[in-house]
Parts: sequence; structure tokens; C-alpha cells
Amino acid sequence: MARRRQLYEGKAKILFEGPEPGTLVQYFKDDATAGNGAKKGVITGKGVLNNRISEYLMMRLAEIGIPTHFVRRLNMREQLIREVEIIPLEVVIRNVAAGSIATRLGIEEGTRLPRSILEYYLKNDALNDPMVSEEHITAFGWAGTADLDDMVALSLRINDFLCGLFLGVGITLVDFKLEFGRLWENDEMRIILADEISPDNCRLWDSRTNEKMDKDRFRRDLGKVEEAYQEVAKRLGILPEAGVRDLKGPEAVQ
Ligand code: UDP
Repeated sequence: MARRRQLYEGKAKILFEGPEPGTLVQYFKDDATAGNGAKKGVITGKGVLNNRISEYLMMRLAEIGIPTHFVRRLNMREQLIREVEIIPLEVVIRNVAAGSIATRLGIEEGTRLPRSILEYYLKNDALNDPMVSEEHITAFGWAGTADLDDMVALSLRINDFLCGLFLGVGITLVDFKLEFGRLWENDEMRIILADEISPDNCRLWDSRTNEKMDKDRFRRDLGKVEEAYQEVAKRLGILPEAGVRDLKGPEAVQ
């Protein structure tokens, strides 16, 4: 079979042409970057785990009526998704102070925020993804007011649902990043959830010990990075019983 045509390669994923019009194949790599590519590394098995974790979370979100780009998982590292026009914004939702908000506003990491806070960043590597306001977004036409209303409403529902889901498995959802896309059906446009939801773009802390179970282990050289991603999958009940060896792919059965 001819290899699919590659359309785009990002830091952690590759997009290939899909089997039918309006679809793409999203391939999850083990590559990890931090600080906008300043730090590079490999987290063995990350792609396989993020594919599974994102599949699981997107399916659960679909069950409560959140429209997502996820169609189905194809294999260990690939999933079929709907092709959308990505809105060039990162939506960050925070429940507990960590990372940039802690540094920028001088709030001690781990402080519960008075309410969930939503922020926008412009997706632009050359500019280091600067934070932008609704004024910037509508003035420069990155999204309209109605688009933002949809994105905020979806983000807050996603946050409530995921906070509960993770708390149920002993994990605090500290913060996370979402991306949305525009999907046209006939002449109608809908905003749907795109990209991925995984320990690459969420801060997940053990709710008892506050131990970090996400990409901060890589960003901050805390060690046990692979183990943290595995533990998240295990708690969500989606790590194969046989453990990590199972993640390398099927072996020949006699
Ligand atoms: N995040 C992300 N991609 C980015 C920037 C942030 O997925 O380009 C996620 C990050 O994993 C965290 C949340 O968004 O869960 C908030 O990140 P923050 O603004 O604190 O930035 P950081 O400290 O990671 O640079």
C-alpha cells in the first residue's frame, strides 16, 4: 500500500492525508519539546499513550455532546480525524496556579484559583505564542465574537467534565490547553474541539501527594517521565493489563 501523503509535521504529531475527503490521519510521535522547541527529547512510548489517552478523553467528551474532530483510533500511533480549519489560538483553562500564571502574577504554584480562569494565546512559534485578549482576537480577525462565545462555552464544559473525570481517578486537573477548528457542513460552520488532550498539554497532579504526572516532568527534568504518562493511562483504565510491552504493537501469535 502506498504510504499516505504527509501534509504537516509538528513538534509532537504528523498529519497525513486521510482515506476520504474531509478526513486526516493524526500520527503521535515520541518527540517532546519544551520552551517552544528550545529543549528537545524523546519520551519512549509517549505517542502510543497520548493516542490512547486522547482517544479516551475525546470519546468521553463526545458522550456529553462536545463536538470533536476525533473519528476513531486506527492503530497504536494513529487516529482518524475530521479535517478542520484550525483557529490560530490556544485556549488555556486553569483551576490551580502553575507555570506561566504563577511566574507572571507571582502566585505560589499550587494555589487554587478563585475560579477557573481562561486565557488565549496566539499560535505563533516565531513570536513565542504570546498571550492575547479578546480585543486582539476580534480586531485582527483570528476569530469572531460568536466563535469565541462557542469556544468559551465548550472550554468551560470540558473543564467541568474533565475535572470530575480526573478527580475520580485521584488526579487534579491543574490546567490544560485546547485548540478548536472550524468544520463546514453544507453551508453551516461549527466550532469543534481539535488537536489532542493528553499529559503533553495538561497539568495533572496526584490529588493526594501533588506529584506531577505530566510533561512538566520533562520540562523540569524531574525524571520518571515515561512512568508518569503510563500512570495516567493506567488510572484511566486504558493501559493494557500486560503493561508497557503491550504498547509496542502486536506480536506474532503462534
Ligand atoms: N500548554 C500547551 N502548549 C503550549 C503552552 C502551554 O499545551 O504551547 C499547556 C501546558 O501544558 C499547561 C497549560 O497549557 O497545561 C498552561 O501552560 P502555561 O501557560 O503555564 O505555560 P508553560 O508554563 O507550560 O510554559
